[in-house]
Amino acid sequence: MTEQEILSMYEDAGALLNGHFVLSSGRHSARYLQSALVLMSMDNATDLASVLIEKVNADDFDMVVSPAIGGLVIGQEVARQLKKPFIFTERKEGEMQMRRGFTIPKGAKLLVVEDVITTGGSVCECMAVVREHGGVPVKVLAVVDRAPQAEGRFDVPHATAISLDVETFAKDECPMCAEGTPAVKPGSRGSL
Ligand code: ZN
Repeated sequence: MTEQEILSMYEDAGALLNGHFVLSSGRHSARYLQSALVLMSMDNATDLASVLIEKVNADDFDMVVSPAIGGLVIGQEVARQLKKPFIFTERKEGEMQMRRGFTIPKGAKLLVVEDVITTGGSVCECMAVVREHGGVPVKVLAVVDRAPQAEGRFDVPHATAISLDVETFAKDECPMCAEGTPAVKPGSRGSL
């Protein structure tokens, strides 16, 4: 799939929203991606995971991990196609943790999969949890990179299926706020 085909997939699913949104960073934007709407379709999940796994060598890692909730569907599908175990980390009272009885064999190498990355905050917290439990994050994969110009977000290599460089504004410089339209905060932190 080309980047344009993936973008069309988002548009067809009504997942590329135009409006006035507050992002997890607190900045405002006129565009928002809701990957959960794309991933409602199992065929879309299969196709996007296929694009992502072309960017890795299955021999380079032992397990797949995602930060909940945003990374769960695409992470599980990537793991299924690669025939690797899948685990996830999740926030409890705001703090990223590994629960559910998941364990990581000491020194195991993990591929980290997320739906959308912007600042990469959830992915970094997920990797910190993996390290606390004895695992070694080796690479980050995400479907969408909302801030492709950002550098130094991760201390391991990363790759994404598409980049969508979205202009964002501080609240007091936001042209949509200046027009008086209300800003909405969609989805969870992980999907922003
Ligand atoms: Zn605004």
